[in-house]
Amino acid sequence: LHCYPNAGLPNPLSETGYDETPEDTANALEVMAQEGLLNLAGGCCGTTPEHIAAIVGKLKPYAPREIPDLEPASCFSGLEPFTLKGKDSPFMMIGERTNVTGSPRFRKLIKNDDFESALAVGQQQVENGANAIDVNFDEGLLDSEACMAQFLNLVAAEPDIAKVPVMVDSSKWTVIEAGLKCTQGKSIVNSISLKEGEEKFLEQAKLIQRYGAAVVVMAFDEEGQAATKDDKVRIAERSYKLLTEKLGIDPTDIIFDLNILTVGTGMEEHANYAVDFIEAVREVKQRCPYARTSGGVSNISFSFRGNNPVREAMHSAFLHHAIQAGLDMAIVNAGMLEVYDNIDKELLEKVEDVLLNRREDATERLIEFAEDYKAKSEGKEKETQKWREDTVENRLEHALVKGIVDYIEHDTEEARQKYPKPLDVIEGPLMSGMNVVGDLFGEGKMFLPQVVKSARVMKKSVAYLMPFMEEEKRKNPEKNQTQGRMVLATVKGDVHDIGKNIVNVVLACNNWEITDLGVMTPCEEILETAKKQNANVIGLSGLITPSLDEMVNVASEMQKQGFEVPLLIGGATTSVAHTAVKIAPAYDHPVVHVLDASRAVGVCSSLISEGDRDRFLNENAEKLQKARDQHYQKQKDKKPLLSIEEARERGFKADWEDYEIPVPEETGVKVYQDFPLEEIAEYIDWSPFFHTWEMRGRFPRILEDEKKGEEARKLYDDGKKLLDRIISEKLLKAHAVAGLFPANRLGDDVELYTDPERSSVLTTFHFVRQQMDKPKDQPNWCLSDFIAPKSLGKVDYIGGFAVSTGFGIDALCEEFEKDHDDYHSIMAKALADRLAEAFAELMHKRIRDIWGFGKDENFSNEDLIREKYQGIRPAAGYPACPDHTEKPILWDLLDVEPQTGIKLTESYAMWPGAAVSGLYLSHPSSKYFGVGKIGKDQVEDYAERKGMSVEEIERWLSPNLGYEPQRQGRGEPSAEKAASAK
Ligand code: SAH
Repeated sequence: LHCYPNAGLPNPLSETGYDETPEDTANALEVMAQEGLLNLAGGCCGTTPEHIAAIVGKLKPYAPREIPDLEPASCFSGLEPFTLKGKDSPFMMIGERTNVTGSPRFRKLIKNDDFESALAVGQQQVENGANAIDVNFDEGLLDSEACMAQFLNLVAAEPDIAKVPVMVDSSKWTVIEAGLKCTQGKSIVNSISLKEGEEKFLEQAKLIQRYGAAVVVMAFDEEGQAATKDDKVRIAERSYKLLTEKLGIDPTDIIFDLNILTVGTGMEEHANYAVDFIEAVREVKQRCPYARTSGGVSNISFSFRGNNPVREAMHSAFLHHAIQAGLDMAIVNAGMLEVYDNIDKELLEKVEDVLLNRREDATERLIEFAEDYKAKSEGKEKETQKWREDTVENRLEHALVKGIVDYIEHDTEEARQKYPKPLDVIEGPLMSGMNVVGDLFGEGKMFLPQVVKSARVMKKSVAYLMPFMEEEKRKNPEKNQTQGRMVLATVKGDVHDIGKNIVNVVLACNNWEITDLGVMTPCEEILETAKKQNANVIGLSGLITPSLDEMVNVASEMQKQGFEVPLLIGGATTSVAHTAVKIAPAYDHPVVHVLDASRAVGVCSSLISEGDRDRFLNENAEKLQKARDQHYQKQKDKKPLLSIEEARERGFKADWEDYEIPVPEETGVKVYQDFPLEEIAEYIDWSPFFHTWEMRGRFPRILEDEKKGEEARKLYDDGKKLLDRIISEKLLKAHAVAGLFPANRLGDDVELYTDPERSSVLTTFHFVRQQMDKPKDQPNWCLSDFIAPKSLGKVDYIGGFAVSTGFGIDALCEEFEKDHDDYHSIMAKALADRLAEAFAELMHKRIRDIWGFGKDENFSNEDLIREKYQGIRPAAGYPACPDHTEKPILWDLLDVEPQTGIKLTESYAMWPGAAVSGLYLSHPSSKYFGVGKIGKDQVEDYAERKGMSVEEIERWLSPNLGYEPQRQGRGEPSAEKAASAK
């Protein structure tokens, strides 16, 4: 029964289990028998004589399934199967780049022990359409067996690669065996041959058969390599007979590699090599039924090394003919095959002359043509320098699109002299260049980092023109023709501004006039500036949850003061739902949630476009209404929350009696000032760096991405360069405090003590508990459950930390901004953020060592990023502990501000922004979760525990309230009003 689902058949029995009664088992089998799917029934462990009797009784009337007459197929597999049968089977492409002999890049990565990036090469092959990957480590200086095992073990953990079968490629038998031990599914051995005689050949084939792999047989024998058609066919036939007759190997498991040899060498005896191969394929398919044919295609064009366009055409044309002759598979550079029909016709003719040996001078003609052809296709590259000879308008456009600042002042000056007024340069060539950038970005052909680089070119050009424009204005005052004016700010209490800065840059180079009020901007300042500037739009940004509340506050103030301009909302914790439910109802004019910084341009242009504004606003209103409807519907549909007492009863119960609590070597606060940045940098997790630039994907794989790879590599290079500079010139300073303390759980709070004897209480942390009605087997989590209860009588430990690497960032950014270089200014902030997270990771490692259980760890950075270690470091404001007001308790405990200079704003955001703080928990079961919605009973209890008013707690935890708070905080509308709002 248990094998049944694995047979890939429809499974009516998925509900059956090991402890079925004899009756149920027999019934289930009868269903299969009725469907004609059952060959044989029996039992293994757990089957009793009663089961057998019941089965026999039930199945007597049924005949065994008739075995269908199926065409023999060659089956290979990684995690997923790949089958070759009949004529309609897809051609099987085997990726060749994971091969140290064929790919210099792969060789270099392996030699540098960079297996992560080497994996990306495999992934890229699969993404480019490879149905299998050929893996080869035959290189004198490598420990090929070890490399093979290591690489294949890593592949096994990457489903995107492991889904395809592996072709284990080596001329050394020990390497092949090392590989076979690490592959799953049915792999292919590449290769064996009669080179060293029949005995060795059969011995290896037998082992391969036992490993359950298919085998590539090269057309070699004791005399050497077969070059002519007749030799190829003869050796193939001999091998086939030996394998099938002596060992009984299934012919569908045999693949003949009939040696693709190089043509176009100028040697007469090589001229017919391609024809020999193609004709041998045709013949072998006849004489060796069900066996497959293969070959390594790149060889054919080896004499045209360095001329990729011609090589690609040769490969496609060659494959085209070989497949027609019956070739089943080939080792190719997947992704580098020109479509046969798209090959330049003149080139194709010359290529086929060579391949098919159609004329004596075929090779010379192709060589001659190839040079020209290459030059032509490289001409495009040469043009990169030729652009300097183009018109000034085109040069400006080129510089904008490519982000080249080198000649911008020179070209701007030339344009200034050509146009009547400096403003004409901006509104003419510069704007039209930026429009091209905008279009390319809209079509997904450019990525955000490129756009920011374009903006830098634009700003430099505008800065150059500025003095001339002032001059012009003095002589002849005129209205500045901007698209629109926007006031932009990170709200009070919040310090995060990367997204806001990107909005600024992107809009500014679309001719918007932006007043950026920076971070921690009070509401009054935003609104006064907007009035003074007569702004068309106000944009608010924020990252932490208290900022959401502040945005509601700004919206209600706008309403009070009679504003009518649209309000834009953006930042990581903002959402359409929050905008719809909380912000929009507070303001009677348009409120728009902007998902990504890069979408701001589209939104803003729609807002001020006569033609598009109404459509856009209607759509926006509909979207918000839908979000509100969904929100309130969801609230109605929700199961009622548990009472806090019941939730506590259903809390997580660790087995404290039998648990040995880890005792740290030392306790108390430790201060780390000016920690070495290079040590921190080793812990960087690069994936979020790309997310900051709105490039989604996992590092390092993103570097090899087909679409984004090139830009991702540039971005990464630029990032690394700046990081090196930051480290070597010590441009940022890193400070931290961290420590462990004796502690016990008391209810949902955790008490910290001055000493392990618990003579006096140092401070108390407070936690919130999940209150949703979950299935009984799932606990209602609360972080305090991971700390031993006081009543147990044993002391436990908890830790706290605060780190920042943001000291010095303002000066650094100023340096870049002076040069209108937003690209590097944003880059610097993104790097500071990365360093702060890395510092937290490093500190956590130290703490685990002090705690003891970290000492046996042997984790790579990748493992740390995947949180493979014991314990967690929850951060206040995150889903497991959403209350930011726990931060001041941590600050007091660790003396954070005096020791490190990291401050808390009125919303308890940390300053500098590149900072991380949190707690350390050691229990092996501890994990991150989301508290979700909580009830009024818990809020009251929590307020009492913290000595704060219920209203205050309701304000800080407002995203977590599972009910409508009675007293409206800061003009927040009631649910009813919100529901009926526009
Ligand atoms: N490697 C990442 C790590 C930071 S994000 C980086 O470099 O950006 C993960 C961190 O967020 C955790 O270490 C924890 O501090 C916090 N976190 C994530 N989920 C959480 C949750 N549900 N509750 C509390 N803290 C959480």
